[in-house]
Amino acid sequence: MTDRKTELAANLAKVEERITAACAAAGRARDEVTLIVVTKTYPASDVRILSGLGVRHVAENRDQDAAPKAAACADLPLTWHFVGQLQTNKVRSVVGYAGVVQSVDRSRLVTALSKEAVRAGREVGCLIQVALDAGESARGERGGVAPAGIEELADLVAGSPGLRLDGLMTVAPLTGEYAGREQAAFERLMDLSTDLRRAHPAATMVSAGMSADLEQAVAAGATHVRVGTAVLGVRPRLG
Ligand SMILES: *Cc1c(COP(=O)(O)O)cnc(C)c1O
Repeated sequence: MTDRKTELAANLAKVEERITAACAAAGRARDEVTLIVVTKTYPASDVRILSGLGVRHVAENRDQDAAPKAAACADLPLTWHFVGQLQTNKVRSVVGYAGVVQSVDRSRLVTALSKEAVRAGREVGCLIQVALDAGESARGERGGVAPAGIEELADLVAGSPGLRLDGLMTVAPLTGEYAGREQAAFERLMDLSTDLRRAHPAATMVSAGMSADLEQAVAAGATHVRVGTAVLGVRPRLG
């Protein structure tokens, strides 16, 4: 193995151990939780190594970086998740490689995603990004819609050709009532997911938890964790 492959394999094993332990502690089966490796700022060569190590889901947050990376890895059996704030002028590019967009947070974005998905003949999975630090009906600083806005967006996604409503996503807030209370934040997301599933029973994905708080997310009931640093290392720049 190359040095980098050895390093990524060891990191992946540690993360796998953490997820397995968190599932056991929560009385959940390991296969209830899917690992998504966030490869932002890291090169396509790392994505290729991760694929060889069995990773099937990767995530990116900037189209400029993600589009060439996804193109360089088009031969690999990967699902690409888009997790960043998404401008409508990037939607056509993102729809070209992303199987899931986790950061759906406004109706204009839904309209654009639907139009481009239909044009490309693709079905794009959508998660509504929930901002637990946003004021009622406002949007979060790092994207996301306030809980009061979920239902309207979810109905819009569900009724849009080319789109599939898969569930909810959040990032633990740094401000507001949930600051420093990751598990409470993730439990709130689970409650919102329960509400959502009354009208949309197939929207079962709950994406929460990153390198620092994946245990709390698994304890709360997350179905997907998004882990970057713990697998790839501390990022060379903000992203
Ligand atoms: C970067 C990022 C992650 C991964 O964060 P780490 O702390 O590196 O694990 C997860 N989710 C989103 C939306 C991100 O932008």
